[in-house]
Amino acid sequence: MAAALTLDQWTDQAGKLAYRNQAFIGGKYVPALSGKTFECISPIDGKRLTSVAACDAADVDVAVKAARAAFESGVWSGLAPARRKKIMIRFADLMLKHRDELALLETLDMGKPIRFSTSVDIPGAANCIAWYGEAIDKLYDEVAPTDPSAIAFIRKEPVGVVAAVVPWNFPLLMASWKIGPVLAAGNSMILKPAEQSPLTALRIAELAMEAGIPEGVFNVVPGFGETAGQALGRHMDVDCVTFTGSTEVGKYFLKYAGESNMKRVSLECGGKSPNIVLADAPDLDAAAKAAAIGIFFNQGEVCNAASRLLVQDSIKDEFVEKVIAASGRFKPGNPLDPKTQMGAMVDATQTKRVMSYIDAGRNEGAVVRMGGSRALTETGGHYIEPTLFDQVDNGMKIAQEEIFGPVLATIGFKDVDDAIRIANDTIYGLASAVWTRDISTAHKVANKLKTGVVWVNTFDAGDMSTPFGGYKQSGFGRDKSLHALEKYTQVKMTWIQL
Ligand code: NDP
Repeated sequence: MAAALTLDQWTDQAGKLAYRNQAFIGGKYVPALSGKTFECISPIDGKRLTSVAACDAADVDVAVKAARAAFESGVWSGLAPARRKKIMIRFADLMLKHRDELALLETLDMGKPIRFSTSVDIPGAANCIAWYGEAIDKLYDEVAPTDPSAIAFIRKEPVGVVAAVVPWNFPLLMASWKIGPVLAAGNSMILKPAEQSPLTALRIAELAMEAGIPEGVFNVVPGFGETAGQALGRHMDVDCVTFTGSTEVGKYFLKYAGESNMKRVSLECGGKSPNIVLADAPDLDAAAKAAAIGIFFNQGEVCNAASRLLVQDSIKDEFVEKVIAASGRFKPGNPLDPKTQMGAMVDATQTKRVMSYIDAGRNEGAVVRMGGSRALTETGGHYIEPTLFDQVDNGMKIAQEEIFGPVLATIGFKDVDDAIRIANDTIYGLASAVWTRDISTAHKVANKLKTGVVWVNTFDAGDMSTPFGGYKQSGFGRDKSLHALEKYTQVKMTWIQL
């Protein structure tokens, strides 16, 4: 079992890993047509892992043709849902069978602690694929309540060729939130992993084939956003783009769609989630622990990170002390050490970006109560201390912009109305939380928060049956749950006159 391995054993396994580093198109691993590659560097120590095919528009075109041919042939789209189910469950089982290897790839590639890639990322991804496989043969279409002289069927058909463009923070998990419903609905797809983290996506392509997913149905094109990503967004034969990433890039996909074939676009973008702690919170210690996990888990590289801590003035000082105490476990360390709970930032660029926000916070007058510096620089990797700012004003840059790192902005408020006003004063609307023992206050605040997800007396709870996605510039369309299938199906009405 994964948990039993030691740092030395993981390090030893890392040294023996073989990497899949070519694109996967039409059931085969192939180099980029241009022959170009890009370097895959581990943020753990700055060392090169492998060189990966740098796909561009020409490769995307071949992948779209393969996906289209597979779709039109009916080899997957025409299978009975019960057969698709079996294959998807096999695919999920294979992911679990290779859990240690996939977890190691994820950790080496993007720096997250191995304890979480083995316990959260890989099982979560497999569970998602299995969940959609299991769901798909239990969904019925509709018959409309028409005049008896006719029957009108309303059927959900797959949209066709779907491009999934995903980020690096939970590489396989975010990809699986797309792969599960896209494939379950009968589509063919092309996955573009983030340039920082392509290794698990490339490895699971052959597991998909081994499970029985036919050639051309699942393709992976690694490469840069401006080339491979943009080519998918602008391709005239891609029917749908499902994107997870920054708000800035999400807007590009709307533009690409408008300037090409008006393809469907769904966007899961950034966040600046408010975590509101009222003075009557039922358990301040539990709230403080959740606040620390909410911002420091995954090095703060989480779209719904609890990055704004809104605390009622009367308990703020006491609560900040509790959050600092609860943050002790998040000490940057070697991600291959099973004891480590906070790993490396994904790369040098992201590290620089996060440090520039810490500088901005200081310059704008917020007070650093914990952290604020880089760590473990002698390793050659990219590490940042968990950082807590107090006395933040919601107008400050660190309260308005998504940092995507371990930086918490603490903001005081007077009363419930004040908290709601501050919480909603952002361009984002992904998630929020409120801590109170008053059920009526909980409902009122939850109703007024303009976010797609609201937690009460917890943070980051959910399972596959609950939809995830944002309001405002956090995007539209939902991942997870049966709602996600709406993005990848289209409604056809057939009227039969009797
Ligand atoms: P980016 O938006 O930079 O990249 C996301 C994906 O888009 C990557 O595959 C990237 O490719 C690609 N891309 C980048 N530029 C372009 C372009 N011009 N045209 C087409 N595609 C492009 O996000 P990050 O990878 O930096 O991830 C962090 C962001 O993701 C954060 O804002 C975070 O909030 C958000 N996110 C949202 C989630 C949600 O569910 N709401 C979940 C997880 C993350 P490449 O890497 O090659 O540049």
